[in-house]
Amino acid sequence: MTPSAAATGTAATTASPVPTRATPATLRRVAATFREHWGKASVVALTGVIASTTGLASPFLVRAIIDRALPNHDTRLLTLLCGAMITMTVLSGLIDTGQTYLSTRVGQEMMFSLRVRLYTHLQRMSLRFFTDTRAGEILSRVTSDVTGVSDLVTNTASEILNAAVIVTTTVVLMLVMDWRLTLVCLAMFPLFVIPTRRAGRLRRALSKESQAKVADLSVLLEETLSVSGALLTKTFGRQAREVARFTETSQALMRLELRRTMISQVFWVVTQTFWAVAPALIYYLGGQGLAAGRLTLGSIVAFVTLQNRLFFPLSRLFSVQVQIQSSLALFERIFQYLDLPVEIADAKDALTLASARGELGFHEVSFTYEGANRPALDGVSFAAPPGKLTALVGPSGAGKSTALQLIARLYDPGAGRVTLDGHDLRALSLASVASAVGLVSQETYLFNSTLRENLRYARPDADDAALEAAARAAQIHERIVELPLGYDTMVGERGYKLSGGERQRLAVARVLLKGAPVVLLDEATSALDSTSERLLQAALEPLVAGRTTIAIAHRLSTVMRADQILVFDRGRIVERGTHEGLIAQGGLYRRLVEDQFGITTTSATNVVPAAR
Ligand code: ATP
Repeated sequence: MTPSAAATGTAATTASPVPTRATPATLRRVAATFREHWGKASVVALTGVIASTTGLASPFLVRAIIDRALPNHDTRLLTLLCGAMITMTVLSGLIDTGQTYLSTRVGQEMMFSLRVRLYTHLQRMSLRFFTDTRAGEILSRVTSDVTGVSDLVTNTASEILNAAVIVTTTVVLMLVMDWRLTLVCLAMFPLFVIPTRRAGRLRRALSKESQAKVADLSVLLEETLSVSGALLTKTFGRQAREVARFTETSQALMRLELRRTMISQVFWVVTQTFWAVAPALIYYLGGQGLAAGRLTLGSIVAFVTLQNRLFFPLSRLFSVQVQIQSSLALFERIFQYLDLPVEIADAKDALTLASARGELGFHEVSFTYEGANRPALDGVSFAAPPGKLTALVGPSGAGKSTALQLIARLYDPGAGRVTLDGHDLRALSLASVASAVGLVSQETYLFNSTLRENLRYARPDADDAALEAAARAAQIHERIVELPLGYDTMVGERGYKLSGGERQRLAVARVLLKGAPVVLLDEATSALDSTSERLLQAALEPLVAGRTTIAIAHRLSTVMRADQILVFDRGRIVERGTHEGLIAQGGLYRRLVEDQFGITTTSATNVVPAAR
């Protein structure tokens, strides 16, 4: 497989969200994404403004309590003011809760629609995209990148708005109370903001590092603790090396976490100190104003309360830019995927074939994989008549699998046409092609679900009788009913609980159930024991009978009964005919038969299996 940047854009190469300068185009698209949720977002904004301003009343209430109610022993006023303070606090809490609900909802709804859009788009991507992109990369875009985007809405956007409202209103009120003290307050601000920003930067850098390490760790876990990985480590005896790799990464993670905690601690101490020092300074300077008769006691206390409200939102506004940039970078990563062209899609006036006869044709078909230096198929023409068996043989890399993939329309040919019942596949709807073609591949993919569900994937509306009939025909029913839970047995990850032969027969049953008129069969190369081999042959009987079958043949029995054999070499068909005819020809086919099937040909029609 050659990774191709062209097929996936730059999308496949970026691994983590690097804050970049967002382009105006990105900003416009983000705004467009928001548009759907505009109504709710405005309500969020409004409640944010109300919640932030409600909190402003309390310093004034404090001032009135200290300056008027307390000195005058006015208990009625005191009750009223204290009651108002409590009411305001409860009210602000309620509004705050409402705002959180709404903003989370908008964020989640946006995430939901982006995620579904992304998944739907990815479902339409051609096989090329999946062969060229790392699976983990796709996973991370659909999961964590989209989550990051929702955070932008839920937290960042509403926080910025609230912070801006709080800062503006608080500064105005402070200026009204005493402009000198306000200036002192603002002058103190850098003492708080500089360490905060520094700590924030450090923490971000560290968390990026630890995210990368966690990702390494999960790749390692996935690679080594999956069934195939475990098989590989065990058979190559590399357990000790894997444990060492795991230890090293875990250790690095541990050190990073320790540093992160310590930075947070230092930051916390700085904040605490500042919070203690700032009011002291205000009391000291305010005391001078009180002595000069410029300020009342209540004003000083109210001022301290206001100042407390100011610092966090203000520093938030100063540090928010980085967060917005990284969220925009996440948006960009998602847009990159959404922009990937759908290479194989329905034509505008795509034909629907209600039921195909199954007549296949290749007409001067050429195909080159992205980045390959020679074509995988080069001017291939052949006709596969309905109901007949066509066997493809040829050395490894000759283009046989590519031919099957073109029939299933997993790729479109670079030149020439592949036809089904005389129609170019590109003129047919994808759904028609999918329902006309069934594939039994070498590696049978099974979902980690029950046997019943795996079979039913071929035809979701199939009843149990149909399932059983297909399983019987594929010689797997007897084996299934032997299992303690029968059809309800879980197959295990990728079907590893089943033997190779059983998996193949299950795959045959699945395609039988689908009832497609064209069957593509990539025979497994691995040798089966004679019972499994016999069962598989019996399973293939009903599959092949009456259907157009194109088989990459690795078994003598298949080539011997094929109606036509196409011999591929370096992307071309170099010989064609029947088994007898080709043996008589004495060319590549005969050599292949002798090598691959281990038989010696004694005459044109007489083959004798060699002792193995
Ligand atoms: P085998 O019997 O070993 O499976 P094959 O006859 O089926 O071989 P193909 O798989 O069709 O051969 O491959 C034809 C050529 O295309 C080979 O040179 C192969 O390396 C190349 N090829 C196959 N798949 C890809 C891919 N996804 N990207 C690039 N090149 C590919």
